[in-house]
Amino acid sequence: MKNIKDRFISYVTIDTQSDPDSETTPSTKKQWDLANKLADELREMGMEDVTIDEHAYIMATLPSNVDHEVPVIGFIAHFDTTPDYSGTHVKPQIIENYDGGDIRLDKEGEMILSPDYFEDLKLYKGQTLITTDGTTLLGADDKAGITEIMSAMEYLLEHPEIKHGSIRVGFTPDEEIGRGAHKFDVEKFGADWAYTMDGSQIGELEYENFNAAGASIRFKGKSVHPGYAKGKMKNSVLFAHEFLAALPENEVPQKTSGREGFFHFYEINGDVEHTEVKGIIRDHDKDLFEGRKNLLKKIIDDLNSKYGAVATLEIKDQYFNMKEKVEPVMHIVDIAEQAMKAIGITPIIKPIRGGTDGSQLSYMGLPCPNIFAGGHNFHGPYEYVPLESMEKATEVIVKIAELTADRYRNEKR
Ligand SMILES: [Zn+2]
Repeated sequence: MKNIKDRFISYVTIDTQSDPDSETTPSTKKQWDLANKLADELREMGMEDVTIDEHAYIMATLPSNVDHEVPVIGFIAHFDTTPDYSGTHVKPQIIENYDGGDIRLDKEGEMILSPDYFEDLKLYKGQTLITTDGTTLLGADDKAGITEIMSAMEYLLEHPEIKHGSIRVGFTPDEEIGRGAHKFDVEKFGADWAYTMDGSQIGELEYENFNAAGASIRFKGKSVHPGYAKGKMKNSVLFAHEFLAALPENEVPQKTSGREGFFHFYEINGDVEHTEVKGIIRDHDKDLFEGRKNLLKKIIDDLNSKYGAVATLEIKDQYFNMKEKVEPVMHIVDIAEQAMKAIGITPIIKPIRGGTDGSQLSYMGLPCPNIFAGGHNFHGPYEYVPLESMEKATEVIVKIAELTADRYRNEKR
């Protein structure tokens, strides 16, 4: 696999930070800089039906090179980077034959990428790491994914002896602000299923994510002079307090892991008259998720019957667990698992404690598990990616294409 490093660097040095306050798609004009480059490169390497729409969504086809029918599969990655940290003037550093010790990121030596703190680094001793210079994020999330898909398509074009069905490629803007999937034209994409290349550590394969909702509660009080308030004052700050105290104290992000759900109330603003509390609800299990929403309703109902109508609750669903859409087509996970094993990677299958573009796409009719792209410490200056992990992810894509064609040839006979 040639040029993976150079290709990756050519992408991360283009600033594509997205902006949640923008109403346009893409949310920032600068995302076009990389989008146009990617569309050009797809055409130059010989991909067919290369399109880039008015919202910068890019699609392309690698045509089938077999006679038998094979489902169309897709590979998807996003080219924006998070608004949480600067992506301007990214200056990647290459650490060859990593010795397993501390890596000084900046000239002053204030930013240290250390295995004492980031234990995952120990996995990559002897490999080539790509890091930041401590002043920006790297953008491996998700330009590693873009690099891998590009490199895999180029490889398949150059190696027609590897047999595969029709493959679709999709690159999206604005994933980091939760809008990567919303203008994705699933019908135009026309794949039977797809994979997002947007996971972290080598081996990751994910098809379960949270069910997610946001909750906000407004408490209304009555302000009276404290000296003469007996029997008259209603303090909305105390209503909010009573509400928060009624929540299960161990079901919070800092005390849960794996498939354990939680309530996370993260903002409170108010005074005697008005208090507003904001939070999120997360659970992998659909019934438990609904149960959590019902618990909020019950606590609010109880407060309202105790004090008179003092609280209003608003719950908004955000996204759902893709497991429901992927389990009926579990072979799409099996193929990815087989592909990893075939090239010597141990699959790490675990539920995501969050969501992906793939969860939305799965509910839009495109089942879409998530595969590792190789990077670590996303969204900040300690982000890094081992070159070897990007090479392996590229090989996984090639192998998935090959195994899918193979599987359906065998089924026909
Ligand atoms: Zn990402």
